[in-house]
Amino acid sequence: MSFRGRFAPSPTGRIHLGNARSALLGWLQARAAGGRFLLRIEDLDRARCRPAFLEDLYRDLTWLGLDWDEPPLVQSERGDLYRDALERLERLGRVYPCFCTRAEIARAASAPHGLGDEGPRYPGTCALLPREVREERARTRPPAMRFQPLPGAWCFEDGLHGPVCQDVATLVGDFVVRRNDGVASYQLAVVVDDVASGITDVLRGDDLLGSTPRQLQLYQALGAPPPRFWHVPLVLGEDGKRLAKREGAFAVAELRERGLPVERVLGVLAAWSGLGDGSPVTLAELVRRFEPGALPRAPVVAREALLREALGWEPAPRG
Ligand code: GLU
Repeated sequence: MSFRGRFAPSPTGRIHLGNARSALLGWLQARAAGGRFLLRIEDLDRARCRPAFLEDLYRDLTWLGLDWDEPPLVQSERGDLYRDALERLERLGRVYPCFCTRAEIARAASAPHGLGDEGPRYPGTCALLPREVREERARTRPPAMRFQPLPGAWCFEDGLHGPVCQDVATLVGDFVVRRNDGVASYQLAVVVDDVASGITDVLRGDDLLGSTPRQLQLYQALGAPPPRFWHVPLVLGEDGKRLAKREGAFAVAELRERGLPVERVLGVLAAWSGLGDGSPVTLAELVRRFEPGALPRAPVVAREALLREALGWEPAPRG
């Protein structure tokens, strides 16, 4: 199958240089492979997404020169597909309605925490509710739907991290595939969309490494072959904090609006990707330099001296 990669941002803020680096690497990987590069807007979290962020996102990618080959998929318009997938999982007997509140799950949890993004391991409280109880409870509270993962370690070979294994059933437990507001969860939507788009290679930040075994279980249940995964180590500030958590000076839109030459920004992104020393560079030159084997396998530190020199960045005064 010919290469198909994607960038799947959530427009919940202005994209920062860390996001731009993931987009750049995915784009370079696709271009170097002579494949296609797609854009998907992950806007299921309606409360946090804003049209202005989406406009900035398109402008930022265009400014950086990162083009995409097909009309972008927008998750908020794809509810029918997620519903179909959920019905398939229901027919397989792998999902059930869950009426628990967050507080109830926290109280019932045997272990203090499972995976950060899902909260504590779900103890399975609603898995065995008799039908009458389900019907009764559905009258007062719309349920979420949970998927029952298969037991045992789920392993895959990550392009950068090597073999990765996780026992999803023990660590995460039954996980949400449809939230109780009726919207598909990230885990389900990302799998349905990557399958529908025929994605062969998922390159993304390694903050999502822990989600991949859950997604692999969904691929298996839906009878679709999974893509290859490349989880790129994140960029950290000199203080060891993730770039995403730092002040807005790293927003691409801000650099663009300041009239900074784009080659300088590309130079910084290249330095964080094992593709350069931080000096200005063009996209065409980066396609020539790109080598999947040279992608960083450990967190990269955003050196403040480089940010100052290349981007005119000044640390915010403390206090
Ligand atoms: N929308 C997710 C994010 O912005 C990325 C999803 C993915 O690449 O699988 O963190």
